[in-house]
Amino acid sequence: MNLHEYQGKEVLNSFGVTIQRGIVAHTPEEAVAAAKKLTQETGTGWHVIKAQVHAGGRGKGGGVKLAKNLDQVKSIANDIIGMNLITPQTSAEGKKVHQVLVAEDVYYPGDSEPEEYYISVLLNRVTGKNMVMYSTEGGMDIETVAEETPHLIFHEEIDPSTGLLPFQARKVAFNLGLSGMAFKQMTKFVTALVKAYESSDSSMFEINPVLKTSDDKIIAVDAKVSIDDNALYRHKDYEAMRDLREENPVEVEARAVGLNYVDLDGNVGCMVNGAGLAMATMDLIKQAGGEPANFLDVGGTADAERVEAAFNLILKDPAVKAILVNIFGGIVRCDRVAQGIVDAYKNMGTIKVPIIVRLQGTNADIAKELIDNSGLDVQSAIEFQEAADKVQAVLG
Ligand code: GDP
Ligand code: MN
Repeated sequence: MNLHEYQGKEVLNSFGVTIQRGIVAHTPEEAVAAAKKLTQETGTGWHVIKAQVHAGGRGKGGGVKLAKNLDQVKSIANDIIGMNLITPQTSAEGKKVHQVLVAEDVYYPGDSEPEEYYISVLLNRVTGKNMVMYSTEGGMDIETVAEETPHLIFHEEIDPSTGLLPFQARKVAFNLGLSGMAFKQMTKFVTALVKAYESSDSSMFEINPVLKTSDDKIIAVDAKVSIDDNALYRHKDYEAMRDLREENPVEVEARAVGLNYVDLDGNVGCMVNGAGLAMATMDLIKQAGGEPANFLDVGGTADAERVEAAFNLILKDPAVKAILVNIFGGIVRCDRVAQGIVDAYKNMGTIKVPIIVRLQGTNADIAKELIDNSGLDVQSAIEFQEAADKVQAVLG
């Protein structure tokens, strides 16, 4: 689950990570009130107004602007709230902005040497360990840095049995070229960041930029925080931060009915039990010349109700030209699933795209008979290849 910047900063701050302070606002009036409050608390005269959407590159898209007085706070907030923000990371239509973060300006006017770094914490899938990834080249596209000057990106792997060791935090500060007070502040910052990452059960932190001011403060100016969905049950306070407006509506609906669904770009919808089989089925679809339209794991109980909910989700995607159902009947019997498919189909009236059903496992032959005798426009298969051939045939 991704958080908004202002929520991510709240999480960081709760673990002692220094952040650029700010207050979220939903209207220009709230933005002015927030700016006044920040001036009282921090003494700042200038404020940055930042669009809160789940996408990076907001600065480039005009979603981050500096306001030098309260009139500007009001007019900038008025411009940004309600706009469709288009950034390199959004679709062409952009994302609607419902709220802004009014933040203290931490780039002091006249500050001749503000330094911007990049620091993230994430899982290295090759070594199976969390790592701190960091670079002196913050503020800009880290992807470009990775491509053109990869030697400017450093990694510090975290041993799960010891956590980040003090010398490692010092190494980060050293490689970033810091000394004196800034060095000390950076080791504190990195240590707190890793602690926050582990304690919040996050799957990714990306802080770009981390700012060093001329008076040696180290501050998180941006925060991209993703919490591991599987750990949300023990973080109800984070779960409450979920902003459904930012998420794919079909995926939201799927979660509500307990289905594991990921929307993809292709033309063949698939309904499978088990994540491994779902991955194999997506390969099968590709081999047959199609592209998977989704990943969908219906889980262990493929009864009529679940199958119907799954069909409904798949059919919301207008790009779907065929549906492949691939169910292995291990614990659940194939004839049960087949009956579920037939019942769901009848409940739904007509389904306009061809359906290929492959049922393998316990009572597969009875299941095939059930489907073949149902009189419905559903093709059955028992072998993997047979199913692939049938998908290929309907795609033409
Ligand atoms: P992103 O573009 O979505 O990654 O949003 P960021 O939060 O990273 O902000 C984009 C850019 O705005 C940063 O790289 C900074 O250069 C600039 N920025 C952010 N906060 C301030 C601030 O307090 N003062 C000034 N002058 N610029 C800021
Ligand atoms: Mn950023």
